[in-house]
Amino acid sequence: AKFTNGDIVAIIYQVMALLETQAIMNNVRLLIRCPERSLFIMCDENQIKQVFINIIKNAIEAMPKGGDVLIEIKRAGRLLVRVSDRGGGIPQHLLPRIGQPFYTTKEEGTGLGLMITNNIIENHKGSMKIESRIGSGTTFTIELPI
Ligand code: ADP
Ligand code: MG
Repeated sequence: AKFTNGDIVAIIYQVMALLETQAIMNNVRLLIRCPERSLFIMCDENQIKQVFINIIKNAIEAMPKGGDVLIEIKRAGRLLVRVSDRGGGIPQHLLPRIGQPFYTTKEEGTGLGLMITNNIIENHKGSMKIESRIGSGTTFTIELPI
């Protein structure tokens, strides 16, 4: 990994631009709530970009009928990024399987996205939490040291 001082706000805007076409095609709006213009952390920018590509892509894919994905960035000692969708949610008993290699519920899924995501977050000494309610949606919260 190549660690540099990276602006997480800029990285997330790049990811949103990258996923914009997919979002539009799925009737999904990517909304961002971020009080700061920039937030720098020591990170491997390409890896952190991959983390948010995986999570935001999953959020889009969770809403086949469209809807909003809300991305919130804030600083609370550590850096917090929360990605919420209004998709079908994940059954409680399947939460432990999320991020296990090849676990997927998608016809053309690989089940590798969140495994890679977990590895990268671990390399950055961060953490990821999943909260989900069937029928009302899922929130991924990523914490990273500043
Ligand atoms: P893939 O997207 O290829 O299936 P991932 O590792 O990205 O692999 O995700 C694994 C599984 O976790 C998905 O197949 C899906 O069942 C579940 N999942 C991930 N994100 C969400 C989400 N936002 N809402 C509902 N289920 C999700
Ligand atoms: Mg995925």
